[in-house]
Amino acid sequence: MLRVGLTGGIGSGKSTVAQMFRELGMSVIEADAVGRALMEPGQSAYRAVVEHFGDKVVRPDGTLDRARLAEMAFREGRLAELNALVHPLVIAAQEEWMREVFARDPEAVAMVESALIFEASHEASSVPGWRDRFDRVLLVTVPDEMKIARYVGRILAMEPDATPERRAAIEQDARSRLARQIPDAEKIPLCDAVIDNTGTLAETRAQVERLAEELRLAARGVAR
Ligand code: ATP
Repeated sequence: MLRVGLTGGIGSGKSTVAQMFRELGMSVIEADAVGRALMEPGQSAYRAVVEHFGDKVVRPDGTLDRARLAEMAFREGRLAELNALVHPLVIAAQEEWMREVFARDPEAVAMVESALIFEASHEASSVPGWRDRFDRVLLVTVPDEMKIARYVGRILAMEPDATPERRAAIEQDARSRLARQIPDAEKIPLCDAVIDNTGTLAETRAQVERLAEELRLAARGVAR
């Protein structure tokens, strides 16, 4: 078995790389999807958030009012409170998922895709650090301006009629998200491998194929 964390800044190409690993037969879970599932009415993060922030974060239909919650987190400076509630639950769910993967196949590679592998461990002192949670951590990198351009491009592909104001707001949002993430230069020395995604998808896929082979061998205890 091998527990792998796949990380990278906003727009670096984590989801793209994660999909390549899936196509090569690896089990990959997305931390964002885990977070969303736990925020559904009645689930653990939903209950913790409503108890802490109050009924004003609940819509009349009982679902979480994400816009209101984001406003409280970012505009009212309560992001650390929100993260302290949610990150330990998301991490516990990831751990549970990895246990299930290994119960089915003890030689599996279980990969968690998360933008915040290092950041979440910093904040959530109640959970094990990332070094205890993963045997390998992989980083997807591109220069910061390319992160912004690709992130904005992905959103504009879904909103082709966006006004110039809307485009500027998307870019501003991307820049402030990026500013909250630890710079790649600080993450690189902590990671076991770096995937350079500045080139074509084919160039990235070649790196992913090489890494997948190494990971598979390590999971079987054949090599480190
Ligand atoms: P986020 O943190 O915002 O979820 P991400 O790190 O998961 O982003 P992706 O969604 O995989 O990043 O990639 C961002 C955008 O860049 C997508 O539109 C994707 O199709 C595109 N992209 C990814 N890799 C490449 C590449 N090598 N060449 C060109 N475009 C790419």
